[in-house]
Amino acid sequence: MLTPKELLKPAVTNSQAYQVADASGLIKLDAMENPYVWPEDIQQQWLECLKESSFNRYPSPNPENLKQQIREVLNVSNDQAMLLGNGSDELIQILLLALQPGSTVLSVEPSFVMYEIVSSWLDLDFQTVSLNTDFSVPEEAFLKNIKALNPALIFLAWPNNPTANLFPVTFLKKVLQASEGLVVIDEAYHAFAKQTMANQIENYPNLLVMRTFSKLGLAGLRFGFMLGSDEWINEFDKIRLPYNNNSLTQDTLSFILNHLDVLEAQADRMIQERDRMIKELQNSQDIEVWSSDANFFLFRLENKTADEVHASLKANGILIKNVSKAHPLLNNCLRVSIGKEEENALFIQAMRKLV
Ligand SMILES: *Cc1c(COP(=O)(O)O)cnc(C)c1O
Repeated sequence: MLTPKELLKPAVTNSQAYQVADASGLIKLDAMENPYVWPEDIQQQWLECLKESSFNRYPSPNPENLKQQIREVLNVSNDQAMLLGNGSDELIQILLLALQPGSTVLSVEPSFVMYEIVSSWLDLDFQTVSLNTDFSVPEEAFLKNIKALNPALIFLAWPNNPTANLFPVTFLKKVLQASEGLVVIDEAYHAFAKQTMANQIENYPNLLVMRTFSKLGLAGLRFGFMLGSDEWINEFDKIRLPYNNNSLTQDTLSFILNHLDVLEAQADRMIQERDRMIKELQNSQDIEVWSSDANFFLFRLENKTADEVHASLKANGILIKNVSKAHPLLNNCLRVSIGKEEENALFIQAMRKLV
């Protein structure tokens, strides 16, 4: 019998399964989740609503009612076609699966890791342009690379993860103009940035916009959607697995869309907390903090190592993300997500003691 190394792609056997830190017993500020639960009355109504669900049947393979509801609640024009995914992660996979073998995919670095991970599984030619040291985008260099590499697809996380900044709209438009291929704007943090490129789809037929409900408070549901022109969305729909959104997800989403104001109010609370936390840390000369358009932010330690501070926070019961080894530009940087008021206060308190 052949071994995995002999039988499988090197991109698989040479890689590692996606690692998620064990957060049991810790204050979880590492994964951009919404820390709040639903009010008691909403929870009760939701449970009542689930009684109507029938799990013996397959879910709707193409839930038109749900799509219509999303359009109404999130103000999505009927002119834009919509593809539903099991989180945006699945949408990223669908996009890349559809490309011709060996296609070039372009993004910036550091950015969201799944673009590169899925590209590598599919033996696509994943290329990047490094951001500037202040995490702004080097516009000239990026546009030059579009000319030189002629990528089939470009991913731009907007705001970017892990740097939390928005690139200028003028730059995105230049990219859309310069690219003969598709340009995917990943708006995973739309609830916090409150800006969208979706209204540009009519002007740019190569534009696709991805959204997810994960960061707004439904990370466990696994639900994202992509907007674009009919011509493109119809093609990608062909390689979507028939029942990619399960019944529990569909029914829950349909329920909570009627109470979206609850989640949006939670997001606004997180925005206020974020700005307060950033101000607090900016008071310290030993920390460099970057502003944020998302529900997390990045900071660099000047006089201590990121490893040391990350470990000390953990010893104090607080889990944040150590991104210091993920990319040279992130040297000695840590990333923290916004939690509940009392959790954030404990984080600030611990940071004051540590640095
Ligand atoms: C979190 C994140 C995603 C993944 O979202 P899911 O819908 O949970 O799969 C996609 N893109 C970016 C930039 C993210 O930060």
